[in-house]
Amino acid sequence: MTESRPLVFGLRLALWYATLFVCGSIAIVLVTYYLTATSLAQRDQQIIKGKLGDYAAAYVRGGIRVLAATVRAEQQAAPERLFVRVVDRGVESLVLSNPEGWDPSKLEIASARLADGTLVQVGKSTEARDDLLARFRAALGLVTLLIVVIALTGGWLATQSALAPIRRLTFAVQRIIRTGRTDARVPLEGTGDAMDQLTALFNTMLDKIEGLVTAMRGALDNVSHDLRTPLTRLRGTAEMALASPPDIERYRDALADCVEESDRVLVMLNTLMDISEAESGTMQLRREAVSLAEVVQRAVDLYHDVADAKGVTLAADAADDIVVTADRTRLEQVAANLIDNAVKYTPPGGRVDVEVRRAGDSALLRVRDTGPGIPPDELPRIFDRLFRGDQSRAERGLGLGLSLVKAVVEAHGGAVDVISEPGRGSTFTVSLPLA
Ligand code: ADP
Repeated sequence: MTESRPLVFGLRLALWYATLFVCGSIAIVLVTYYLTATSLAQRDQQIIKGKLGDYAAAYVRGGIRVLAATVRAEQQAAPERLFVRVVDRGVESLVLSNPEGWDPSKLEIASARLADGTLVQVGKSTEARDDLLARFRAALGLVTLLIVVIALTGGWLATQSALAPIRRLTFAVQRIIRTGRTDARVPLEGTGDAMDQLTALFNTMLDKIEGLVTAMRGALDNVSHDLRTPLTRLRGTAEMALASPPDIERYRDALADCVEESDRVLVMLNTLMDISEAESGTMQLRREAVSLAEVVQRAVDLYHDVADAKGVTLAADAADDIVVTADRTRLEQVAANLIDNAVKYTPPGGRVDVEVRRAGDSALLRVRDTGPGIPPDELPRIFDRLFRGDQSRAERGLGLGLSLVKAVVEAHGGAVDVISEPGRGSTFTVSLPLA
């Protein structure tokens, strides 16, 4: 059914072309026939009128005798036979030409009345003209038939070659749908025409779909993998407790471990859902005027003790008057995640500086650390869900912090930027539109 559709479309297109072509050609044929027929009739009229003038003059010159002699002489030499009649003052009618073979219904006659009342008539048979036109009509009929055949074949061939790239595209799509392989591409003709552009666009779309599918598969694999570890641990803890002799203290410890592991899973699932909601635009944001300085202060207060304990200096420099329209809790989450990473990855003796300032009509929240920096090959992936740097595995974390930061900031119409080099620290900059 689906395979026959381009065929039907091609046939319809060919028929359209052919109909237009045939109609145009028939119009030309009809005009040609009309012009030929009228010019032949005009020519006959001219001959009759010319001869009528000559014969009237001959009659005036020498009466019926001279006229009869002229007609006879001419009829012997002239290729075209004319009918000539003289009606003498309405009394005596005399046919001067050969009286045989005239069919009155096929006679075209012109008359001239002379000064003495004599009527001179000259006629010409339309038979020869009709015969010629009949043969012309037959020839034109044959030509029209040929035109129809050529139009149908030409239209069919033209549409077939025009539809070939569309058919290739259709087959490629069908193949992709059937096999589910998004790595198949439609080859370009290299002509750079509209079809090539469409094919290129289609291939680009496939690239995008493939990228998305791969990313989704990767994310799903990562989630499954990352869920398996805490769930296996949870199961192991419960199993060991069950297998050991009854001991209330042991059970209590095992249950506490189970709660901790399930919390980890819950946090991971909740964060994943938050990221999805923020990315799809369904996250409920309670927007209000929020001072960035307050947001930063709360986050810094939260991490002060951790930084102190680790021997990392945590300092904030925030201008008071910078206000954005945002969800306060979500912004605090953003600031907390960035500061958490900076403190977590910066070794003792290092510094974390948090800065809030204005740049044009944007508010900037910048978190700079003197930590190990991020290797260039990891830099493009740090905002991916569940991505964790190779050297970061020793630290606690789910690999979801930066994904959430990016999703939430973008849901607020802002952007996140990172500058980092191994050994030279990292700088994360969040820019948000000013209120
Ligand atoms: P997590 O910190 O839980 O691993 P994130 O999404 O917050 O996950 O960060 C992703 C990765 O980016 C981290 O594993 C780490 O490799 C890298 N990273 C993030 N922030 C920093 C930082 N301040 N310094 C060095 N590396 C960082």
